[in-house]
Amino acid sequence: MKHIFANWKMYLDFAGSMILANQLAEKTFDSEKVQVGLFPSTLAFTEVEKLFRDTDIAVGAQNVVWTPKGAYTGAVSAEMFAQAGAQYALVGHSERRYIFGETDTSVKKKFDACIDAGIMPILCIGETKEDIDNNKREYRLKKQLMSVLEGVEHATKFFIAYEPVWAIGTGEPCDHLIVANIHDMIKAELKSYTDQDIPVVYGGSVDATNVVSYLSHDNVEGVLVGHASTALEQFFPLIRAAEQI
Ligand code: PEP
Repeated sequence: MKHIFANWKMYLDFAGSMILANQLAEKTFDSEKVQVGLFPSTLAFTEVEKLFRDTDIAVGAQNVVWTPKGAYTGAVSAEMFAQAGAQYALVGHSERRYIFGETDTSVKKKFDACIDAGIMPILCIGETKEDIDNNKREYRLKKQLMSVLEGVEHATKFFIAYEPVWAIGTGEPCDHLIVANIHDMIKAELKSYTDQDIPVVYGGSVDATNVVSYLSHDNVEGVLVGHASTALEQFFPLIRAAEQI
């Protein structure tokens, strides 16, 4: 079973989200081989969730706030998303870290809030080009894992998304052999925090032409797809390709 997570970011407005969601709703795929999760904007979330309720397609939140309720203008909590049917939430996406200034500390609070609310967090970690130049790739990834996972309950279930910052939205994907090596390192590191088998997915300029190269590695258990998930003619061939693994 491979996971395909579609992060629509802020690429699609409400109308665009509903067009794509309705197109996807008409398609069929082998849900024993491929598990699809969509991450629409907060604005489109409830309508997309309604469309896919009780189907093989899950819907998740692109971002959550940790406090369940209160005076937090503009925020939507993990608990509210859970009540609205979210099964997953992205936490620590590099666009949240680098554009909106999220820190390892706030990422941890969001991760914990998802667990408390019953949503499966997808913890995104990734190094910058500068980290690589300074020989700090492994250091960065381990630090991002430690700051969230230290003290995690052993029964906790979550995903890791390995997303090199320099590969996101650049059309410059990370070589699949490097990804497989990094996933090995991440999986080994995860053993110091949990005895659960935590799935690790890759994200960074994945499309229908390269998805098989990643998914053919056993330790690449799925992909997180941004741009190529926002139009049916790119996204559905990607699902079809993944089905063949
Ligand atoms: C992402 O948003 O997590 C992502 C991987 O984007 P893209 O596929 O566009 O690189």
